[in-house]
Amino acid sequence: MTFKTDPYWWEAAPRPDLAAADVPQLTDVAVVGSGYTGLIAALKLAEAGRSVAVFDSDAIGAGASSRNSGFVGRTLKYSFGDLLSAKGLPHAIATYREMQAAFRAVGDTVAEYAIDCDFRVHGRLVLAETPAQFEDVKREYELRHEHLGAPFEILDKQALSSEIGSARYLGGVILPDLASIHPGRYHQGLVRAAQGLGVLLLPNTRVSGVARNETGFQVDTARGSCQAREVILATNGYTDGLLPWLQRRLIPFDAWQVATEPLPSSLIDQLLPRDRTYIDSYMNIDAIRRSPDGSRILYCGKTGERSDQQVMGQRLLGELRAVFPDLKDVGLSHSWTGRCAATFDLLPHMGTHDGIHYAAGYCFAGLPMGSHFGRLLAQRILKPGSVASVFVDQPFPTMPLYGGNNWFVPWMMRWYDWKEGKRHAA
Ligand SMILES: Cc1cc2nc3c(=O)[nH]c(=O)nc-3n(C[C@H](O)[C@H](O)[C@H](O)COP(=O)(O)OP(=O)(O)OC[C@H]3O[C@@H](n4cnc5c(N)ncnc54)[C@H](O)[C@@H]3O)c2cc1C
Repeated sequence: MTFKTDPYWWEAAPRPDLAAADVPQLTDVAVVGSGYTGLIAALKLAEAGRSVAVFDSDAIGAGASSRNSGFVGRTLKYSFGDLLSAKGLPHAIATYREMQAAFRAVGDTVAEYAIDCDFRVHGRLVLAETPAQFEDVKREYELRHEHLGAPFEILDKQALSSEIGSARYLGGVILPDLASIHPGRYHQGLVRAAQGLGVLLLPNTRVSGVARNETGFQVDTARGSCQAREVILATNGYTDGLLPWLQRRLIPFDAWQVATEPLPSSLIDQLLPRDRTYIDSYMNIDAIRRSPDGSRILYCGKTGERSDQQVMGQRLLGELRAVFPDLKDVGLSHSWTGRCAATFDLLPHMGTHDGIHYAAGYCFAGLPMGSHFGRLLAQRILKPGSVASVFVDQPFPTMPLYGGNNWFVPWMMRWYDWKEGKRHAA
């Protein structure tokens, strides 16, 4: 089977082809990483009059920010119910209120910079495959409704048939106020806004060292060094050895996604009649949606696996066909991958280490969290002491002997699948 191995999103939003500007001798803020986190921090700092240089080892935005599924939600790997049991009601409420603020940060950013990126509130369907999952999902959203006022609707198997053309699930919950986006065009809009504000974008310029000195930091690259008053690391799943302290706290993992070839609209209407975003209820989630133009189905799954893109494309197509047997004769147009980062406590973190600001460990919620933390990073620099967040400056755990080698991730994900009884096509 032949398919492209660049993200489907790059068709409408190719990575910007920028001339290699010189590394500046001096900047107020050096931002390492040009995804949502880095660019939104850069935008907010530039608006406040700071000079900002954004460095990326690759093309601008070539990381996860232009590769993801475009699901805009407000969920952590810890459910509201988990947090309530472990840390009590006030903490659970504060955490999920901040998730709501992170969700809002995406829509606010789209509106503020007038970004044309198919941002749409059209609801998410959370699917349950077993009676136990159905009970858990219902309990979770009843709790969120009770304590946060979050709207939801429970669907039994019969009601589900008007929402999804698959016999695999026995119930689900609709979250009508969640959204989706074209992630590549969202990022492209951020690039345009940053350029408009005079942010210096430096593609193919890996930062190899950051050393503290009397007036801030010396930022080293193979193309020259730059003196910066402040430094932000916004490298998430692509974090390298630049700040070993951070690398020891992040667990990078690969996520995989495919797009089918264009499908007849009658087939898409039969399989995804209501055009929502869809996830199942496993730790290692399957995520399904229509492409924004409604021409094909996008599927993300088998997160954490390590293989090549040809093999993974075939495997993901097998998984998608197990959900929708009607796709048995359909092929793929694209199959691609990107890197995310988890943490040992499964929570996102933002803070400052040795004077260097960082935000990372989004555990698959980087669209809202990157947009939110980008703003908070800028706020922290502009108004030190003013950031109030349940995620900021919290203890950030690592493990003895862990240095950033993620060899165990595929095994860990298979262990979750085994524990939860997740079935796979191959
Ligand atoms: C297939 C897939 C599906 C996903 N689906 C969703 C979803 O539906 N919803 C959601 O909320 N999240 C999703 N995510 C996660 C989300 O995309 C990320 O969490 C988010 O994009 C992280 O943004 P970021 O700006 O922090 O990092 P990134 O966008 O990953 O950018 C980091 C950048 O840092 C650069 N870099 C690293 N080291 C250096 C260095 N030393 N010098 C210079 N540059 C450096 C890299 O080149 C990279 O471009 C998904 C991710 C993937 C891969």
